[in-house]
Amino acid sequence: MKVLKFGGTSIGTPSKIKNLTKIININDKNIIVLSAFSGTTNKLLEIINENKKIKYRCLLIEKLYNEYILFINELFTENKEYINKALLIINKSFDIIKKSDIKLSKNILAQGEIISSNILYLYLTSINIKCHIISALDFMKIDENYEPIFDFIKNKINNIINNNIDKYNLFITQGYICKNIDNEIDNLKRGGSDYTASIIGYALNSTEVQIWTDIDGMHNNDPRIIKNTNYIPELSFDSAAELSYFGAKILHPCSVLPAQKKKYQ
Ligand code: ASP
Ligand code: MG
Repeated sequence: MKVLKFGGTSIGTPSKIKNLTKIININDKNIIVLSAFSGTTNKLLEIINENKKIKYRCLLIEKLYNEYILFINELFTENKEYINKALLIINKSFDIIKKSDIKLSKNILAQGEIISSNILYLYLTSINIKCHIISALDFMKIDENYEPIFDFIKNKINNIINNNIDKYNLFITQGYICKNIDNEIDNLKRGGSDYTASIIGYALNSTEVQIWTDIDGMHNNDPRIIKNTNYIPELSFDSAAELSYFGAKILHPCSVLPAQKKKYQ
């Protein structure tokens, strides 16, 4: 099974979601790991931080909600009956987002990935692509040091996949989100979806972990600062890890480790 991770910018518009069907080979066994749509996590953080200015907070929530309504109306133009189904998903998440209880912060942050993965699932279903959505909260777990508990994850995800592998080729799950040692909703820190993808790759003994994003690869310099940089076609795990530790935004710094660990096992 291959792991295909799509970042927020590669699924951030309805046309980009539609484009995914050109990238995924539905006859192969794949698991898609999704980030929240681009900008969502930042906006959720802003909403959480504005828990004292109630009016402004409500305004931010309304703005984000309206963006999602526009999004689903555009995504399901050909299948209008799916708009209501998508609306149910969005409303359920926004019921949580609207709560200003600080204890719910991590749960609020998780709604970005919960919405994007469920919307992709609905979209694929609407165009008759058979797929199965699995909740990362059922298998992704971190310990008291915020490190993934590999044995637990491996066990759980293999069980879930094995129970469904005869019926489905394509699985969808959320990046970034997890449960912590107290069984509360938590996350793998900003940019953590890459990490989710490689942890899953390790756990499922995958042949490949693909990280799809809005740039064609790791470059020989920072393209945000230097003009005319080139992508590097092949990199060792060590160099990739080093580049991401020193600020290459393309990869979460920890995400190389599970793949490297697998290689030397
Ligand atoms: N949505 C989360 C973030 O923006 C995780 C990710 O995109 O990888 O940090
Ligand atoms: Mg990223």
